[in-house]
Amino acid sequence: MADFTPLPPDAPHRDPGVALRRVFGYSEFRPLQREAIDHVLAGGSALLLMPTGGGKSVAYQVPALCRPGVTLVVSPLIALMQDQVAALRQLGVAAAALHSGLDAGERRSVRERLAAGTLDLLYLAPERLLLGGTLEELDRVPKSLLAIDEAHCISQWGHDFRPEYRQLAALRERWPELPCLACTATADEPTRRDILRQLAIPESGLFAGGFDRPNLRFSVEVKSSGNRQLLSFVRRRHAGEAGIVYCGTRKRTEATAAWLRRNGVEALAYHAGMDPSARRETLHTFLHEDGIVVVATVAFGMGIDKPDVRFVAHLDVPKSLESYYQEAGRAGRDGLPASAWMAYGLSDVVTARRLIGEPDRDSPHRTIEQRKLDQLVGYCEAAGCRRQVLLGYFGEDHPGECGACDNCLEPPETWEGTEAAQKVLSCVGRTGGRFGRVHVIDVLLGRSTEKVQRFGHGELSTFGIGTELDEAGWRGVVRQLVAARLLDVDVEGHGALVLNSASWEVMRGERSVALRRDRTPPKAPRKRKRPGGAAVEGLDDEGRSLFERLRELRLRLAREQEVPPYVIFHDRTLLAMAEMRPAHEAEMLEVPGVGQAKLERYGAVFLAAIADDPEPSPAGAAGGERPSAEPAEEPRSDSRGGGSATGSGR
Ligand code: ADP
Ligand code: ZN
Repeated sequence: MADFTPLPPDAPHRDPGVALRRVFGYSEFRPLQREAIDHVLAGGSALLLMPTGGGKSVAYQVPALCRPGVTLVVSPLIALMQDQVAALRQLGVAAAALHSGLDAGERRSVRERLAAGTLDLLYLAPERLLLGGTLEELDRVPKSLLAIDEAHCISQWGHDFRPEYRQLAALRERWPELPCLACTATADEPTRRDILRQLAIPESGLFAGGFDRPNLRFSVEVKSSGNRQLLSFVRRRHAGEAGIVYCGTRKRTEATAAWLRRNGVEALAYHAGMDPSARRETLHTFLHEDGIVVVATVAFGMGIDKPDVRFVAHLDVPKSLESYYQEAGRAGRDGLPASAWMAYGLSDVVTARRLIGEPDRDSPHRTIEQRKLDQLVGYCEAAGCRRQVLLGYFGEDHPGECGACDNCLEPPETWEGTEAAQKVLSCVGRTGGRFGRVHVIDVLLGRSTEKVQRFGHGELSTFGIGTELDEAGWRGVVRQLVAARLLDVDVEGHGALVLNSASWEVMRGERSVALRRDRTPPKAPRKRKRPGGAAVEGLDDEGRSLFERLRELRLRLAREQEVPPYVIFHDRTLLAMAEMRPAHEAEMLEVPGVGQAKLERYGAVFLAAIADDPEPSPAGAAGGERPSAEPAEEPRSDSRGGGSATGSGR
């Protein structure tokens, strides 16, 4: 994309609120954004901690427009930079990036614009910034802000430590007057401290929000047939929407993607074993087309900034709640409703435990990993609010009853399971701790199978003592006992159930056991639902079909310009259009996400689509686009700043 409309040098952007309205088309800052922006505009440095989708980028993009000079944005990933630059250009902001993916000519042109002082934002990979020559060039130009994205990469305590980030500390000494805004979504206490110290940001510059992502809906299903459950979930809640499905193995990603495709879901596999060009193509399709599902190993997703991923599904359990929250957090960056769904079963726990290895005194690392896995399992088995469990893990209190997790929406039945547990455990004991779940349940149910006869288990006192539950019921009991480590699985051998010391406490009646009743997973609707799941819930039928038309129009425009659709308008903006149905320019400007530049570029075509007019008529064009754009510029900005009729609704 070569064309962009630079903002006029005297643009009335000195006020951050005006910049937010005019350029981004949003009426209000989110609370922490406002505080962090005021702080850096006053010359201070800050660390802004907000969950994904909280609006961190806006927090450095707005000051970039309010202060003279260029804002340097250090960002670890090229894909992320390219996305942001493309989005900013659509907004009419002069932004560029310097990274290893550019050819010499492109690099030269960026350098020229930098030297000429026509750039508002320059994105840089850290290694590029520290390369000889770049710093000297930057020394010579006026700078407005040093923004550091993914700032946790600076800390060895963080989980994405990048050695190049270490050297950013030196920049603070080199340009001591330049305010710095560090941003991250993931930083526990030690990491936070480390970032503040290394970047010489005073404690008063810490702006920390909670980790909650209110638009994410969490749910966990007990796994029976993972693929079928996944399909049912996609059809019920996310038909036609973009999503990521995580699987534990490469083979599984391919099989699942193929299976989804056979069932009418546009799914593609992605894993590290594919050749690079195929991987690139999958990624490109995912970003540039609407409604693609990528089935991937965890390698996929890091640094992907696609805002309209509507669901993240796990067919195999992640290794900790940290990983889970990070992976699931790739859904719903745009703030619209999105799902974090997981299918989980006994075999997942057993496999994961085996992969880590037995906890032992000599290997503290392994013990920690086992503990982390147990916390994840605890989340899966929780009978209470899942959000409370998740946030509690990050040290945040949440009152529970979030209203947006499966357990809150449909509270599971819990029951006093001590007696049932004792039955299972004594059956395991009587059969000698050599058998797996199937056989133990057969004995409990009094089934005279071939195996029962061969081992004479029909004679045991526990034979047939468990008729109060059916097979699925007992499977749930066994799984929950193993999850809580009240019963072990011999992971080195053939997966036999074996007693441990906690089992004996239960059998002696020293410990009681609370259990939950498993839900039967809902069946897949036969037919594929009309596209548009969770995101369009609030719209009536007409609104939905208008939303679809607007999405098609957006896709066409995106293809023409070779940019991802969301850099033209976010779903959120299209939804608001479908709801508000603006009839002319002034109303279009009321739509969140429509600023001045977007109005000029796309106002007319979208207004025409909303009016269900295939082509903007000449009369319509006269009322919109070119003729009115220039004269209207000043008065509009004034009236909006003053909160007149146009401004007040926003
Ligand atoms: P982060 O960098 O924290 O993940 P972004 O800056 O990408 O978040 O913002 C997430 C989404 O929220 C984007 O769609 C962005 O345009 C939108 N957004 C940011 N600030 C505001 C605001 N003040 N009002 C409305 N939407 C906003
Ligand atoms: Zn809840």
